[in-house]
Amino acid sequence: MSLLENVFAGGKQVTLDNVLENREWRSNLQGQLEEKHPQETILAIKLNIPGAIKNSPALKQLFTAGWRTFMARLTFWPVRYIKVLKDRVTGPEGFLVVAGPITEVKKEAIRFEQHFFLGRLFDIDVMAENQEQYQLSRKDLGFSPRTCLVCDQDAKLCAQTEKHDLQELQTAVNDFYQEYFVKDPVIPAWDKREVVKSALFAFLAEASVTPKPGLVDPASTGSHDDMDIFSFIDSSIALEGYFGSCFEAGREFHGSDLKALLLKIRPSGIRAEEAMFIATEGVNTHKGAIFTVGIFLAAYGYASRNYQDPSLSFVLDVVAQMGSDLIKEELAKKTEHDQTAGQAQYEAYRFTGVRGEVAEGLVPLEKVGLPELRKSHGDTNVRLLNALMHLAANINDSTLIKRSKNPEIPRQMAAYSQKFFELGGANSEDGMAYLKQLDQDFIKENLSIGGAADYLILTALVGRLTGLI
Ligand SMILES: [Zn+2]
Repeated sequence: MSLLENVFAGGKQVTLDNVLENREWRSNLQGQLEEKHPQETILAIKLNIPGAIKNSPALKQLFTAGWRTFMARLTFWPVRYIKVLKDRVTGPEGFLVVAGPITEVKKEAIRFEQHFFLGRLFDIDVMAENQEQYQLSRKDLGFSPRTCLVCDQDAKLCAQTEKHDLQELQTAVNDFYQEYFVKDPVIPAWDKREVVKSALFAFLAEASVTPKPGLVDPASTGSHDDMDIFSFIDSSIALEGYFGSCFEAGREFHGSDLKALLLKIRPSGIRAEEAMFIATEGVNTHKGAIFTVGIFLAAYGYASRNYQDPSLSFVLDVVAQMGSDLIKEELAKKTEHDQTAGQAQYEAYRFTGVRGEVAEGLVPLEKVGLPELRKSHGDTNVRLLNALMHLAANINDSTLIKRSKNPEIPRQMAAYSQKFFELGGANSEDGMAYLKQLDQDFIKENLSIGGAADYLILTALVGRLTGLI
């Protein structure tokens, strides 16, 4: 069982002193904020975790997921102040000052606690210095009382009667973590603005991760002497409109034959490639990712069209249905000229490349990229590098095959990756030194793991949408 399979793994027990000190610290901070912002509304957001372990890598992930979701709902009112402290032993918490009426802000907080998948794990205190509505209860505002973590009863009643013991409560918290992040990740039904931001983040994050074997990053152009990090920045920015139109095409799609959804986004895909080539002055930076991410976003838009939070497996099932004719139509047909790398490889080795990956539902995203990102710890660069090297070991990378002209190279790549993780991966100095050397070796041999990089973009995208990063 990996480090993060249990939500409390790696956590530290708090003492009563810790809790009392933290309460005083929080109340002081709130007092200062109320004094400084007498006309505005103050929010204190924290997790509501029973027992002595209040923080852990996984609890931090839960907090981040909730914090992001709540912030995306606060768009009506200007935010005057933000402070987020994720590492406190007493649990992650955050503070906000919002220029909005306390009653409306409080309603938004209650809606979040009621409707967000993880909302029951959160406690949002809404305060203001000079307003009488301070004491308004859920009932006064027209909401039902808070429901218990374990059963669906009034949480207050369960607490008063001590209906559940500590183990039962902790199991319930762990179940929330497993349901949201582990078994079949839940992707909140975001609006277009958040989806476009997340996709742009994913593209720029992939370009920024360093050192990547043979790939372009801020320190190196890798095995690509016709592009650099700025080509990737320009290319990513050029795709912003494409992300939104694929997502919207999915949200607005009403048919039952999902292959028609693929046809619907095709023209956008062609325009996106043009925009990429214009931005990079003719260099292919993102062709593979334009294909996979566009299809993923359309599928996610479709799967969340009723504003229900879809599971990852549902989204990937839509991806597979959209792409079910891709291999048959695109690869098997005789192409006399303008063969793509994927088509040539299919003819030569029967590798189905990116089209086959879509037709199968982007399996490595679900089975490798996302779970490895969740299990990884350290800064974002370290986590994404670990995810990348796991992905590189588990796919038939069409860029790598094309550049090496060696169909056996995926096996060799798996061996490189294994060595990297034996040395401790990106979390260790030895692992990082090995990766730098591998980058140099790849540059010498003109190799690059472009296919794994495309999966890293998808991984970072879903990681962002779920709040993992
Ligand atoms: Zn209960």
